[in-house]
Amino acid sequence: MTVLEAIQKSAEFLAKKNVESPRLNAEQLLAHLLKMPRLKLYLNFDRALTTAETDALRELIKRRGLREPLQHITGSTSFCGFEITVSRHALVPRPETEMLAELGWQFLSTLNSQPSTALDFGTGTGCIAIALAAKNPHAKITALDISPEALALAKENAAQNKVAERIEFLQGDGFVALKTDAQFDLIVSNPPYIASAEIATLDPEVRDFDPRSALDGGADGLDFYRRLAAEAKSFLKPAGKIMLEFGDGQADAIKSIFENEKWIVEAVRDDYSQRARILVARL
Ligand code: GLN
Repeated sequence: MTVLEAIQKSAEFLAKKNVESPRLNAEQLLAHLLKMPRLKLYLNFDRALTTAETDALRELIKRRGLREPLQHITGSTSFCGFEITVSRHALVPRPETEMLAELGWQFLSTLNSQPSTALDFGTGTGCIAIALAAKNPHAKITALDISPEALALAKENAAQNKVAERIEFLQGDGFVALKTDAQFDLIVSNPPYIASAEIATLDPEVRDFDPRSALDGGADGLDFYRRLAAEAKSFLKPAGKIMLEFGDGQADAIKSIFENEKWIVEAVRDDYSQRARILVARL
């Protein structure tokens, strides 16, 4: 079988399994297997696959057909250009979240207070904390998570991206792991925001492979925003900001939650498909 035939056959199989973008997935898995950039496959369409390669590809395609996320199969994803190892212990970083990280590092870079400080609340793979640290070479980042397994992964990712010495990793529920007098220029979070009952309706890649604790935002999906609105205040410096990602359709409810807690909502930002997805607020 040639590279082109393998791509076509795999794409057909993945389409039958209702995988989104089946051809792209087939190409990415084959590129991963052959350790070449995806576009290089196009220069190798006529190359014959060895039996070992065909067998290995079949295994990868089978896993993807069972709706295991592509990133879990390849073992990593790119976030703001940084390579992030992924696993079942943390949410796979999403492209929308790159915008949140970018707003965060832009804000940190405007501050005169050096080192600037930021808290990543619910760090998961560590993707946001790593992007903030890498883009602001003097910033000190604190990364919090309730899951020790996620934190171990985040530490590994920080080391891989050479920012581990500027990120402090703390395990605990909510803010409990912080010193009571800790204060940050920026608090950033992409908290779990799916309503509990909606989780069953999500794509299998998310429902069955992202940790439930990274998705579940309680009965209406807003538990973490209530908690952040009430508890984040004392951890913010006077001119500090909080920046939060939220789900499609949650903007008004979250704005009210923060305004009721006496925050000033500075901006609600859209994602690339013009849906409101990020709240920026200050005290
Ligand atoms: N901060 C991590 C991310 O944005 C984890 C978020 C989460 O688990 N809800 O990917």
